Amino acid sequence: MTSVLWLRRDLRRGDHPALGAAAAAAAGGEVVVAFVLDPAIWRGAGPVRRAWLAATLRATAEAYDGRLTLLHGDPRTVLPDLARRVGASSVHVSRETTPLGRRRDTAVAAALEAQGVAWVETGTPYAVGPGVVLGASGEPYRVFSPFARAWRAHGWPAPAGEPAGLRLADADADADADADRSREAGRLLDEALAGDRPELPPAGEQAALERWAWFRDGPLTAYGQDRDRPDRDGTSRLSAHLKYGAVHPRTLLADLAGRTEPSVGRFVDELAWREFYADVLSRHPGSAWRDLRPGLSGLAYDTDPERHAAWAQGLTGYPVVDAGMRQMLAVGWMHNRVRMITASFYTKDLHLWWPLGARHFLDHLIDGDLASNSHGWQWVAGTGTDAAPYFRVFNPVTQGLRFDPDGDYVRRWVPELRHLPGAAAHEPWASPQGYAHGYPPRVVDHAAERREALRRYEAART
Ligand code: FAD
Repeated sequence: MTSVLWLRRDLRRGDHPALGAAAAAAAGGEVVVAFVLDPAIWRGAGPVRRAWLAATLRATAEAYDGRLTLLHGDPRTVLPDLARRVGASSVHVSRETTPLGRRRDTAVAAALEAQGVAWVETGTPYAVGPGVVLGASGEPYRVFSPFARAWRAHGWPAPAGEPAGLRLADADADADADADRSREAGRLLDEALAGDRPELPPAGEQAALERWAWFRDGPLTAYGQDRDRPDRDGTSRLSAHLKYGAVHPRTLLADLAGRTEPSVGRFVDELAWREFYADVLSRHPGSAWRDLRPGLSGLAYDTDPERHAAWAQGLTGYPVVDAGMRQMLAVGWMHNRVRMITASFYTKDLHLWWPLGARHFLDHLIDGDLASNSHGWQWVAGTGTDAAPYFRVFNPVTQGLRFDPDGDYVRRWVPELRHLPGAAAHEPWASPQGYAHGYPPRVVDHAAERREALRRYEAART
């Protein structure tokens, strides 16, 4: 028998339960491994993440010994055609939990089942599938800490091994429409990789595992202190690999079993945040682009394209904000502490609407993930889960001085401030030569905008 493994956010070969299920269903027959470049998702990804996906797909093809069938088109027609052509009796996937993914999968499953092909979901991109962690009386969690406790108590299975006797097949696409679909997919990947874009880190499963081993045996020991320091390479940088499933969180968690250092506990907590936000989004699909909690629905926002542009280009005149925004433009990634600072600046200092800032992040991050991004933004904006209270407004100058005390992060990403030594890079207005190299003046006065944010907050609450 033949089965199809349809890859989506699980672009790896190791620790892959759906691959195991596909091999078991093939019962000694062949498994066709496929990826469908869906134009609806491809267009929405933005050039940076398209390039990252293309690089990850090329590495995945290698991991499958070149036997990865790449097709372009709407999965609702591409999958049934592929299953018919290769004579598959089942199509296997890792269960998708995002709003769009669920809708698409329901339609694809129906089309396959109409032609007698079984649809089989095995595993998810998470250690514990969204929707599974429940409170004592069966209710979902609305705040992180009890969720994380219940998530740990629930636990996760051990990593899956490579299925015995796996036989991978080439889906020869010369005869029909699939030949065009295959050519178009290849063309789009080439185009994405050739485009004008930031320098990407090494992509794919092997690169993810290497980065993980380096982090696990090194910086992880100091993660508790270093995780908030954008001037240090103190975090795993696995988010972009987790995004497309080049590595599964279960693999990481299994490696950490038995390690009791506080830093390891802290790292596991961060993985739990990712799972928490996926859980919340799966229960509240509308929270992707709308306030999760209605309490601030009356908040007044400004519409100001010039301020948005100054923020987006890293030209606000606040050094740590500008460093973060320029880091994202340059490498498609931004340090977590700085994501919080820049998002706070957008919502509280510029009074702009969080979904517009979130959209900009999604367009430029290689780890851009709907659940983590929208809920990260809502946490800062005060509209999300157990949100930071709205009145806690980040001060971009003191945050910079505290988390980049020597100014190294700012000087790295903002060349106009490289002449300022140490912490002086955070306050060019305090140095006689502060603006000598063209650094822009501050677009707003933080103290005044903080008062304005609090005024709007009070007005929205009453
Ligand atoms: P590490 O510190 O090494 O953490 C390990 C892993 O835990 C990360 O790879 C990530 O998968 C997860 N994680 C860590 N912190 C968080 C968090 N606060 N929320 C959810 N998961 C977390 N993360 C994304 O993956 N994609 C996004 O689009 C995204 N957008 C964000 C937007 C805002 C406004 C904020 C405040 C945070 C956002 N995050 C997002 C979360 C976090 O900033 C990144 O996951 C983290 O910076 C990635 O770097 P790392 O892999 O080195 O993290």
